[in-house]
Order: sequence, then structure tokens, then C-alpha cells
Amino acid sequence: MQISGAWLDAPATQRVLGLLSRAGHQALVVGGCVRNALMGVPVTDVDIATDALPDTVMELAQTCGVRAVPTGLAHGTVTLVIDGQGYEVTTFRRDVQTHGRHATVAFATTVEADAARRDFTMNALYSRADGTVIDPLGGIADLRTRRVRFVGDATTRIHEDYLRILRFFRFHAQYGDPESGLDAEALAACAAGAEGIDRLSAERIGAEMRNLLAAPDPAPAVAAMAQAGVLARVLPGAEAKALTVLVHLEAGLAPDWLRRLVVLGGATSRLRLTRAEDRALVKLRDAIATSQGAAELGYRLGAELGRTALLARAALLETPPAPHWHSDVQRGAQARFPVRASDLPHLEGAELGAELRRLEARWIASDFSLSKRALLG
Ligand code: ATP
Ligand code: MG
Repeated sequence: MQISGAWLDAPATQRVLGLLSRAGHQALVVGGCVRNALMGVPVTDVDIATDALPDTVMELAQTCGVRAVPTGLAHGTVTLVIDGQGYEVTTFRRDVQTHGRHATVAFATTVEADAARRDFTMNALYSRADGTVIDPLGGIADLRTRRVRFVGDATTRIHEDYLRILRFFRFHAQYGDPESGLDAEALAACAAGAEGIDRLSAERIGAEMRNLLAAPDPAPAVAAMAQAGVLARVLPGAEAKALTVLVHLEAGLAPDWLRRLVVLGGATSRLRLTRAEDRALVKLRDAIATSQGAAELGYRLGAELGRTALLARAALLETPPAPHWHSDVQRGAQARFPVRASDLPHLEGAELGAELRRLEARWIASDFSLSKRALLG
């Protein structure tokens, strides 16, 4: 099996692989980049695996004039930076001792050993610099049937690292077969280990949930999470049901993880949202609780959040939005309230605020048509 792609042929990729292989080491691209290339999905980051020890990687890079940053020496990772792009080079390793999240690592010399410590067979795929794929665990076959399969025994692998529970659902949402569902045994192992999720950092949970909810259709994976008792651990109080409706209503719009999140509801303290995300979520939840129409939502929230609020509310109420909602939101987003505080010089403070809001409500009720004169007259 061969892969190809601009990311693999790129001089920088070839340079990193070459500086290792010329010194007699194995140098392979691994994981997401190989998986995505095989699936015809864009490759975002290129990870490299080698039998060279981290110190050797540092030395070889420096000899070749490539900047090397020891970003994760404890787990064998050195980042090589070429033309502003970082390449994570990780020494083959096997996990020897685990504490449910942080494994103590031992370096390994074979690609087979390295493959055995990875999470899913579709992520344990490697390629040489010329695009020849190495598939120690049958990952290609699983990729063809779109089956997310744990490397080794699911229960054991989950006890080594509970993040793998979330990754299981995340990869299913991104690459799994929605028709055939999730592997029953793996699902049972996730359900049995769900409590371990409480030990994970909010940062890690948030990162996996962002990826999961940004998949084209995350609804089947989220429904399975709910059934396995996993959803309640990451989003206490969330309800999976409306997500299916939302995805259906979204038809044609780019996936937006926050839109999906708002429909799920639940407490977000286990996700570590950014402040901007937090603010947007509060606005959306407030807007959804109102009966404001499409144009008003567009006016009050702007086009993007307005669309999100409208669709989320429609999904929660299981009622499709009115036919022209898209252009109505847009129209509202472009409308400018014609009255300023300076138009009401006789008022100040709370009175001024109340009058501006009253006039604004009249103007919105007129579908943004009343002029300043009409409003003030
Ligand atoms: P993406 O395209 O979303 O980045 P990815 O496969 O590159 O997908 P990463 O999280 O970047 O995923 O991890 C890179 C690789 O490292 C994975 O493909 C997998 O082989 C391995 N890996 C990452 N996290 C784990 C984990 N918790 N347990 C075992 N292996 C892991
Ligand atoms: Mg990656």
C-alpha cells in the first residue's frame, strides 16, 4: 500500500526524515497523517516516529542546522522546526507502567512495539519517506470498514489511560461507520471505566470534545456516550436527543462545535472553555430561552451567533425554523438602530436607557423599518 501527498513530499518533511535515515535510523511518519492520507482527508500535522533516542534526534538536528526543541523529553518527543512548522519526532516506545493517564515509558527499537502502545489500529499506521505504508496491526482493514478498534484489550487499554474512552467516541464520530455502530465490547469497557474520566484534566476533555463535536455528524457517537454513562461525566445534565435534530437542520452549514454544545446543554465546567466561548454560550442560552425571531436574533447577536441560536432553538423545540430564516438573520445582522443617546438630550441615566430600549423594541417590531423621525416623533 502506498500513500502520497504534498505534506509527505514537502522538502521540510523529507528533510526531517532524511536527517534521521541518513544516520542509519528508522524514520517514519505515523498516526493521523497516514490515516488521513489513506482516507483522502486533509492532513493537518505530521508526526514522526524513529528508533533514534531523543538525545540523538537533538544532535542530528543540530548537526544539520535544524532547530530542535525538547518539547516532551519525558515521553521521548523532540520538536524539529523547519520554516516555522513544527515536526514532533517521538522515539519508538512502549508503555511500561501506568497510572491511568501518565505512563512511564521505555524506549523500543521496533515499529511493532511502538504500534502496540497506540490507542486504535487506525492510528497505528506508519509510512516511509517514499509513501510505503507499514501496518503492523491491521489498521488498513479497519479503516476500510471504518471500524475504530482498540489496540489490544479495550479494558486494559482504558485502565492505562482513561482519555482513550473519549478518544474512542471522538474517532468514531470522525471516522467510524455510522450505520454499523460502535464495537459492543469496547463500548462495554468504556461504560465500565467511565468513572476514570473524573481524573482527567479539563483541558484534555475539552480538546477531545471539541474534535468530537466538530465532526460532520457527532450525534450517533454522543448518543452512545450517553448510554455508556460517559456523557454525564463530561457534561453533567446534558441531553443527547436534540443533537440528531440539530445535525439534520444544519444541512449544508459547516459543523460548529459550540452550536452542538449549546443543544446538548449541561454544565461545561469539565471542558475548560475559553472566555470567548463562555460568553458566546451564555448569550446563546439566553437567546434560545426567548421567542425572538430570526431577524431579531441576527440584530442582537450578529449573523453567526444569530444563526446558531435559531437553529439550536429549533432543534430543542423539534420545529424547523421559518423558510427564510437564513436571509432574515442576515438582514437583522445588517440593520442599524437609527436612534442615539444624543437624540434624547432631555433624558439621562436609567431613564435614557429605558427609553432607548423601548424605541429599539418598536423599531424591531416594525421589522427595522421605522425611521429616526418616526420613532422620535
Ligand atoms: P488528529 O488528526 O485529530 O490530530 P491524531 O491521530 O494525529 O488525530 P493525536 O491526538 O494528534 O491524534 O495523536 C497522535 C497519535 O498518537 C495518534 O494517532 C495515536 O497513535 C497516538 N496517541 C495519541 N493519544 C494517545 C493515547 N491517549 N493513547 C495511545 N495512543 C495515543
Ligand atoms: Mg495529530
